[in-house]
Parts: sequence; structure tokens; C-alpha cells
Amino acid sequence: MSVAGEPRRRKKAASRNLGSKAEVAALGRRVPRRDDEREGFRDANGGEPALPPPEPAALLAWYDRHRRALPWRAKPGAKADPYRVWLSEIMLQQTTVRAVAPYYARFLDRFPTVHDLAAASLDDVLRAWAGLGYYARARNLHAGAQRIVAAHGGRFPDTEDELRALPGIGAYTAAAIAAIAFDRRATPVDGNIERVIARLFAVDEALPAGKPRIRALAAALTPPRRAGDFAQGLMDLGATICTPKTPACILCPWHASCAARRLDRPELYPRKAPKREGAPRRGAAFVVVRHDGCVLLRTRPESGLLGGMSEVPTTVWRHDFAAADALSEAPALSSDGVKWRKLPGVVSHTFTHFPLELIVYVATVAADTPAPDETRWVATPSLAGEALPNVMRKVLAHAAVMNPN
Ligand code: SF4
Repeated sequence: MSVAGEPRRRKKAASRNLGSKAEVAALGRRVPRRDDEREGFRDANGGEPALPPPEPAALLAWYDRHRRALPWRAKPGAKADPYRVWLSEIMLQQTTVRAVAPYYARFLDRFPTVHDLAAASLDDVLRAWAGLGYYARARNLHAGAQRIVAAHGGRFPDTEDELRALPGIGAYTAAAIAAIAFDRRATPVDGNIERVIARLFAVDEALPAGKPRIRALAAALTPPRRAGDFAQGLMDLGATICTPKTPACILCPWHASCAARRLDRPELYPRKAPKREGAPRRGAAFVVVRHDGCVLLRTRPESGLLGGMSEVPTTVWRHDFAAADALSEAPALSSDGVKWRKLPGVVSHTFTHFPLELIVYVATVAADTPAPDETRWVATPSLAGEALPNVMRKVLAHAAVMNPN
């Protein structure tokens, strides 16, 4: 638990901005004593100077000068809008700032308040979300808006516990909203913050086992005031300075306090356990186009992967998929003499837990062909308004039915 290469931590802390003694102790690093200060933080055995503790005030001062201008962020000194904070935090789960920005603007334009979102249909919400991925987030946002209106009169709850009771809000998101929107002393720990803290304290436990310790270290460092700015400062530091590769330590406000920098090995942290990828799955997708230009689609079940989204009919996606049997699961079209044509190549897509490969069959049928049970015809120009997940956009692009974007 100690910082590599340093003596075990001492009991007293000279930190000005850290919290209680217990919190400082929880930091698990050596903090300087008075005699360290007289000695210029030199170790009693004459070794490397001890590291001074990271000061929250240094990060806040850096944030005040270098904060990123993000569309969902309140201007300096202004009060954050909880609806915008909530929306952005949900959109940013598993998704980059660059990918989220245009969706955030369109979504906010379409649903400017929590009341507008609560009153919308789920289909409309899924359409506005289409392409952003992880669609359970959109369903949870919709359900969350309805809960906030019905149970809280449209006002956001402002404690972590109450926020966690809303659909789709876990520990991270509750802490982020509580800190950023309500300035509560809460500590969200996302990937950027995890990296900064792991490096600052040279946390040797590999992820994911090291997560609780990193969270405890981050929480102990969080100041009682400006907790929202502190969290956003950590996020910005991780995104712009303490980057995964070649961090710009010379520009870091915690340069002098950082254990990984002292070891000259910041890229080693956070340490990670070897990744176990899910077994690949394979299947076939069937793109059926009518002579009048309509495409056959169906809606996935509400629960489970891509729940409630639109798709072309496919086989089941299996580990032991046999391509030779694919047509036995093709949609039962009543049109005479349907000729399936297998396209060259495959469509590849990676979900969180497994990679997927789809072969694609296409067929053209008469304009009066009825849609088989649980499917529907959608005119090609209307495809852009369908809640099509990225994997299905790739399939339709592969079949030259729609543009991939
Ligand atoms: S000194 Fe370098 S490694 Fe340490 S927190 Fe700052 S940027 Fe990250």
C-alpha cells in the first residue's frame, strides 16, 4: 500500500487542504512532518526527498485557468443546470466528448427540459439517441424524467442516495451530478480520474481490484468546498495533461506531488489485469428491399442488448454459427421465387462483451409483398429516422441501402 521505494507513511500530516486525519491516513502515502519541512522534505536516511501531498487548491487554480469549454458546462461562477448535467453524464457513459457533443445539442433542442423529455414517447427518445449506442441509457433517461416529474415535481433530487434511486444512475453518475449540479462533497471516479489518482499515488493494485482503493484516495482528496469544480478539474487534467500515453507532467499542477512521475513511469499506471475478451459471435443479416424502395425491418425485444431498437432480420448470433445453415433462419417471404444473394465480406462490430461478425444476404421482392409477422416495411428515406444501432447501420451500408453516417 505504500508508494514504491518510499518508507512507510508516518502518522502526522502537515497538509493544509486535505480533510480529517483519518482521510489523510486513508491516502496511503507518506506525507511530510515538520522535521521533513525543515530538512526540505529530505528522507531521514538521506534518500530521495519525500513527496509533498497533492493540494486540492493547486488543482482548482489550474482548473480556473485551463478548464475546457464544454457545451453542458456552466460558465465560471454560474450555477449548473441539473437537467443538463444529468443528460451529459448519461451520454458520456462509455462515449467520448467528441461523439457526444452533436447528440447533446440535438437532444437538448428536441427535449429542452425534463418535462419535455418526460412527455415524449419512448420512440421519439430512441430516435434522437440512434447512433450513440448503449440504448438502455436512452430508455433510462426517459424513465428517469418521468420519475422526476411524477415523484419530485420536476425538481432533481440533490443527494447521491436519492439520485441513485433513479433509473440508470449508478455510483459514478450520482456522485457526478451531486458534485457538479449541487456542489455536494461527492467524488465521481471515471476513467480519467482513475488514471490521475492511480499515478498520483502510484497505486500498485491492478484494475479492477484496485478500484476501491483509488476511489478512497480520490474521496479523501476531495475538498469540502468546490467539489464540483474539483471533480471537473480532475476530469480535465486526465483528458488534457495526464493522458494515457505521454502525459505532459511538466504542465501538471501536481507535478511535485506525483509518485508515478517521481518513479519516471507514469504510463505504468493504472496497472491493469489482463483483459478477457468475450468469445466472438457470428450470424447472418437479411436485407430485403421491395421494388418500391422499402426495406424490411423489425423491432428488437424491449429488454436485453439493443432493446427496443430497429434492425433488419438476422439469425441468432452464436458462438457456433454455421454459415451453411443461415438461410434456414431467413424471413419467411410470401413473394414467389425469392433469390437470396450473399454479399462478399462481413460486417464486424464490437460490443462491450463480445465481437460480432455478420454475413449479409440481400434480396429484392415485388412491391406488393406483405411483411412477415413482427416485421414492417420502411421507406428508404425514412431509415434515417429509425432507431437503428450502429451495427445495423453498418449492415445497411454494406448492402448499399443507406449511408453509414
Ligand atoms: S505528474 Fe504526470 S503522471 Fe502525475 S498526475 Fe500529473 S500528469 Fe499525471
